[in-house]
Amino acid sequence: MERNVNRITQADKYLLDKIRIGNSQAWSEFVDRYRGRLLSFAKSKLIKSQDAEDAVQETFVSFIQTLQTFRGDCALETFLFSLLRRKIIDTYRSQKASHICLIQDAYSSDFEEPASDPFEQIAGPSQTASWYYRADEHLDQQKNMLTEALSDVIEGLKQSLNFRDLQIIELLLYCHLANKDVAKIMDVNDKNVALIKHRCIKQIREHVETISDGPISEEFENLLTDIWKMQRFSCPKRSTIGAFFLGTLDKQWHEYTDFHINKIGCQFCRANLEDIKTESAKKEDTKLQSRIMQSTVGFLKKA
Ligand SMILES: [Zn+2]
Repeated sequence: MERNVNRITQADKYLLDKIRIGNSQAWSEFVDRYRGRLLSFAKSKLIKSQDAEDAVQETFVSFIQTLQTFRGDCALETFLFSLLRRKIIDTYRSQKASHICLIQDAYSSDFEEPASDPFEQIAGPSQTASWYYRADEHLDQQKNMLTEALSDVIEGLKQSLNFRDLQIIELLLYCHLANKDVAKIMDVNDKNVALIKHRCIKQIREHVETISDGPISEEFENLLTDIWKMQRFSCPKRSTIGAFFLGTLDKQWHEYTDFHINKIGCQFCRANLEDIKTESAKKEDTKLQSRIMQSTVGFLKKA
């Protein structure tokens, strides 16, 4: 079975290689591809659109500066979002955090009380990133095994269209919510949630023999959350978000995508959706423009 691990694609690798040797056409293509979704994300976090544009610009600058050391452990989009988040934190800090309510983390903001120190929450991902990007052979091995195991579990749920269990696992691991909160959100009883969690962890353990049996340590769960956040296993592809926007998805996929975007409120996917909406509006504009031109150009000659 082909694993849907969210690493850098061959096409991206090829583009990056061209950028690394200074090909400006390739760089322009790259900026064009990611600018819109990053800007939508920044605008959802920062009030002034000038601040949002600055943060996106600085993100691309940081990206160019770190390009030589980028290891391609996660998708480019995820890496760019993590750079942008740090820029947004910088902006907040420089403004003395006057609008704290906006920096709740994407995964928990809908369900949890905001942390007393909002930076605590948003600081998480950069710590994760440093753990994730640390070059360490032993850690790499562990990380790869867990990544594959978790990916297999999630792919299995998707392929069998078991979206209820997927949602429960997603709330437990991606959003890091407690069993009782998950039970409330999904309207099932606590025991069911515990059972589904147990089944999932058991499957992961079967993949990864080095993890000893026994009670699940908090550290192990945190590790799974980190991996999920970096790999974004449950984030629909951009093309799926596009189909969601057009309303052409199957009922079950539509409902699941709606849950991910509108209930969990995954800000990365929301940013993509916003960008797709803008693109589509632009296309409509262009279509209207050419329709008007086509229908008027004849009269223009005669006039
Ligand atoms: Zn997502």
